Amino acid sequence: MAKGKQLRRRSHLALKANSLSKCGHCGKPIPGHQVCKFCGFYKGKEVLNIIAKQLAKREKAAPQSARR
Ligand SMILES: [Zn+2]
Repeated sequence: MAKGKQLRRRSHLALKANSLSKCGHCGKPIPGHQVCKFCGFYKGKEVLNIIAKQLAKREKAAPQSARR
């Protein structure tokens, strides 16, 4: 294939950065059509309990009920 044609064809192969939309609840930039990671809301409804998740993470990192 001619080099010029090859280069022209490859001019369309670049990857585009993911466009982020805003969360309707907290306003943070999130990928579209996905549950917000920061507040757990999607389409005005809370679908993830973020606080419970964070508490569980903290328990794992530093367990308060240390035996012995
Ligand atoms: Zn949010």
